[in-house]
Amino acid sequence: MKLAIIGGGPSAFYVASRLHKLLPQTLDYRIHLFDRLWSPHGLVRYGVAPDHPEVKNCTHKFDEAALDRRLRFFGNVNVGDSPSPIQHTVKLPLSSVFSNYSHVVFATGCTLPKRHSELPPSAICISALSMVHWYTQHPNAPSPPPLDKLSHVSLIGNGNVSLDVARMLLTHVDVLRKYDVPERVLDVLAESTVKHVSIVGRRGPLEAAFTMKELREMINLPDASMVPLAPALLQPSEGVPLTRQQTRVLQLLSKGSKNTFGTTAKTWSLDFYRSPAGLMVPSPENTRAQLSLAHTVVDPATQRAVPAGETSTVATDLVVTSLGFHGEPTAPYFDPGLGHLRTLSNRIVTNAGTTLRNVYGSGWASTGAHGVLAATMMNAYDVAETIVNDHMNPLEGTEGVLNPDPSLEELPEEVVHGIRERNIVEYPDWKRIDEEEMRRGQVRAGCLSLPQNGLSAVFHRCLKLRPPFIATPTSRGTLCPPPPEPCVYLIHGGVYGHNYEVRADVQWRGVQHGGSTSDGLRTWWRRWVGLAGCEGMAEGHTVG
Ligand code: NAP
Repeated sequence: MKLAIIGGGPSAFYVASRLHKLLPQTLDYRIHLFDRLWSPHGLVRYGVAPDHPEVKNCTHKFDEAALDRRLRFFGNVNVGDSPSPIQHTVKLPLSSVFSNYSHVVFATGCTLPKRHSELPPSAICISALSMVHWYTQHPNAPSPPPLDKLSHVSLIGNGNVSLDVARMLLTHVDVLRKYDVPERVLDVLAESTVKHVSIVGRRGPLEAAFTMKELREMINLPDASMVPLAPALLQPSEGVPLTRQQTRVLQLLSKGSKNTFGTTAKTWSLDFYRSPAGLMVPSPENTRAQLSLAHTVVDPATQRAVPAGETSTVATDLVVTSLGFHGEPTAPYFDPGLGHLRTLSNRIVTNAGTTLRNVYGSGWASTGAHGVLAATMMNAYDVAETIVNDHMNPLEGTEGVLNPDPSLEELPEEVVHGIRERNIVEYPDWKRIDEEEMRRGQVRAGCLSLPQNGLSAVFHRCLKLRPPFIATPTSRGTLCPPPPEPCVYLIHGGVYGHNYEVRADVQWRGVQHGGSTSDGLRTWWRRWVGLAGCEGMAEGHTVG
């Protein structure tokens, strides 16, 4: 078995980790993970809120899976025929994957934010995803929100992503400092003038999309208080049985926030039964944007929000839409009706309704953007079991599109070329960068001794290195592309470990160095890095 997993997020690693357990020891197999980002772990690195470090503990399991010599991770590789949204990725056509592998899993997630027809993106209306990508410093590099010019923020949607963003805006920057928040993000948050965050939901408290843990965190925010809800909102309709979760939500909301409303500089509100109906940009008459909200009720038959006939207007400075996510419409096997890939019992199904042999979908790519990380893990485990079952008892009536007998050792030629050109980040490269981030985080947190366990290590990380520009060894005199801002360069040495031979001439902002060097590289780098204003380096085969 030679399996390509497209995507390097949690779902991909959970499938791989489970396969290591389930596949018979007698079977020689390979698992290759491809991600268009240079780093692995997808949403765990670029989605999970920084103040939820415990969620990131799953990376220990991913590291374990990656230690197995049969697994390889190839970062900075964009699989497919559509242009990559990330610059500098190595292009790997799907046809090449299909001809080089006997099994394929699509674990590409749901990467695009759902939009609202009444709220087109603009300077005053951004997606929660762009906020999340900003505070996790995703390589997409969205601009920082102008928090120093805002007082009132309206979040549309009341799912957990919305609450993550709200917490980031309402938590004191000194509290956030101890988490994995990049310095440049902390600098923007330190200047924030946000006073109120309104969380708008089109249905009521019983239908809210957030989960209890996240609601409790909001209620207990140390520096913010909630606008009390009208008691009528918290009265369930007579005769309607409540789930345990619904009962607890009502109890929590009735008690209100830990801090009494009005005693804190920052406040927040849950504005139920409101659906966006338009957004007017600021004008000479109204210096703030005007968000129109249609009042709604929940139709008991369908549980959907329907207009109640009234509309009101809220003056706000920034609207952030947090309406969930969908897959990329250009992805192969994408079903526009579903908003994600079309699968049946974990197996990919074509437009024509044919099940493909040994081609699978896992995680949000296959289920849509639902559920917490534990749900993604369970789904991935199920996918791994399907793969093993199909291996033992091949399914009848499926269409074969893959190479049934590829060479286990050969890589697609695009990957071989990418590795030769030093354009691909493998797991050991990533671990060096990870260690360097941890080290710098410890230094910044004033914790010079090594942390006792992984959790505290994550606590003290405190920064993310810039997505590296991968400097390809070039002939003398060739210029590396100037980075848009101070960043980390990856330069691969000739001999792993001790002989840092660099065949690149690098010139940027008038600084030029070149030629071969061995142990002098460290000094060389420090000088260059200092002059060029870069963040720094890690040592070794990959200099990050
Ligand atoms: P979500 O949970 O699906 O919430 C989407 C919200 O947007 C809902 O309130 C939904 O209202 C609203 N909405 C959707 N379309 C709308 C429209 N046209 N008009 C008005 N409102 C609309 O999505 P999410 O917050 O992006 O989270 C995605 C998944 O990730 C969830 O499963 C979430 O639990 C998970 N997640 C978990 C964590 C965590 O574990 N801490 C953190 C982040 C995300 P309706 O309910 O009325 O449709």
